[in-house]
Amino acid sequence: MVCACISASTVESMLLKAEEAQAENDLLELRLDSLWPQLKENLVLDLDKIFNGIKGRSIATLRSAEQGGLFEGDDILLVSVLKKALELGADYIDVEYASPVLREFAGSREKMICSFHDFDKTPSLDKLQTLALKMSEMAGIVKIVTYAHDLSDTMVLYQLSQFLRKEGIRFIVFAMGDNGVNTRILAPVLGSEFTFAALGAKDLTAPGQLSFREMKEIWNINNLNKDTKICAVFGEPIKHSNSPSYHMEAYKKNDINAIFLSFETSSAKEAVELAKILQLRQMSITAPLKAEIIQYLDDLDESALRLNAVNTVILNDNKLRGYNTDDFGFKSLLEENKIDLKDKRICLVGAGGAAKTVASVVSSFDITSLVILNRDIFKARELAKKYKAKAANLSSLKDCEYDILIDATSISLDPRVELEAPWAKEDVVFNSKQTVITLIYNPVETYLIRKAKAALAKAINGWDMFVGQAEEQLKLFLEAEDLKQ
Ligand code: NAP
Repeated sequence: MVCACISASTVESMLLKAEEAQAENDLLELRLDSLWPQLKENLVLDLDKIFNGIKGRSIATLRSAEQGGLFEGDDILLVSVLKKALELGADYIDVEYASPVLREFAGSREKMICSFHDFDKTPSLDKLQTLALKMSEMAGIVKIVTYAHDLSDTMVLYQLSQFLRKEGIRFIVFAMGDNGVNTRILAPVLGSEFTFAALGAKDLTAPGQLSFREMKEIWNINNLNKDTKICAVFGEPIKHSNSPSYHMEAYKKNDINAIFLSFETSSAKEAVELAKILQLRQMSITAPLKAEIIQYLDDLDESALRLNAVNTVILNDNKLRGYNTDDFGFKSLLEENKIDLKDKRICLVGAGGAAKTVASVVSSFDITSLVILNRDIFKARELAKKYKAKAANLSSLKDCEYDILIDATSISLDPRVELEAPWAKEDVVFNSKQTVITLIYNPVETYLIRKAKAALAKAINGWDMFVGQAEEQLKLFLEAEDLKQ
């Protein structure tokens, strides 16, 4: 369940925002401290007006300045505001663990959310477990929110959630900061009572908070629960990846209780560690992890073994099995764009995971020649040896003769880096008889595609490959889960 956070500088605007939120949502957090600068001591008097205007369930929060809020009154006032909020029908009150007034609410234990915030870091799992146990003695719900600097901080919180769930303690656990966004989305799946969202982009009350609409429309938050299966794409960079939106759409369309996230990392070890903690059912693997991930898997299917690269990992019977659906994707790109490789001279740029797939697919056709160019010439030579192709440096592009150029590098993911690409040189020219393919689909039009179009060459980006490989990944996931429609 998602709780919409309502902050406002006047009672009228708080009521308007509450009305807007309640049209779609059952639970509100009223940040009463946001009213403090204007109301000060009058806050107690105005509570009637606020609670009379609220229809659904609510949490009353009066966060102090040290805890990231605006309340600067004393403890006596804090107690009277929260006690009155309870009398007026607040379903929960949020009291900070560090607050000396915590014991004043001993009689309202089940309605108390005892909260701890660390705005600088995520303490160790041990420390947080001990803290949570102490907090649970005072309150019906324990709320722990820390700042995540990286993926390992978020792993601490995922493990804390698992611990609290096992202990039978009601909790809310997530991280602040850009690195904590996934912890907010996963909170209800990992057992948190609810997660928080801002009413709109202008109403954010904490770093990394998502808007209510994003939570609902993108992440399908109202349908997530403890049975939701978690899937994710891993790589670096990852923001360009369309995998989350593709898979989320497919889950919604087919009524599949699953969520698909993205995690930015260049460490396969870290990716697998996270996958094990979260029991990820399906991982999509992108650059630069396709080869490195293999050493951490239990098993490979025929395509991954043949290509020595993995783009899909499925968890089955507690074992991680690697697959490669990129070859399926590249074949669909050829089919969708009616590209016949027979008797063609191919120039492949790149020798990473995706290039291995392309080399394997093109070599299975009756081509005239294949030359592989790469920045690291040793990798180009190794790949060329496997497919009886030629290998050369990137600078040889201007001298190559080819009918089809295939860019299987990640150069164009960054438009600034692309200006250094071999095809950006003036002496590399295309013509209208050639076909130029890049595996990149985001950006839709790279410099390479624009230059190919300008020369009237047939120019194709990696979208059809993306769709082909993603469809196959979805099939593998559904088969493993026995969810096949
Ligand atoms: P990878 O294994 O990390 O390989 C990256 C390749 O790019 C290597 O050949 C590398 O050369 C080259 N490269 C990177 N930065 C470079 C630079 N600044 N200058 C020159 N060369 C550079 O990645 P991958 O998994 O093969 O993926 C490659 C690209 O294909 C990515 O952009 C990925 O998004 C895209 N892709 C798309 C699809 C799709 O469905 N459309 C599927 C798979 C991959 P070195 O070997 O010298 O480092």
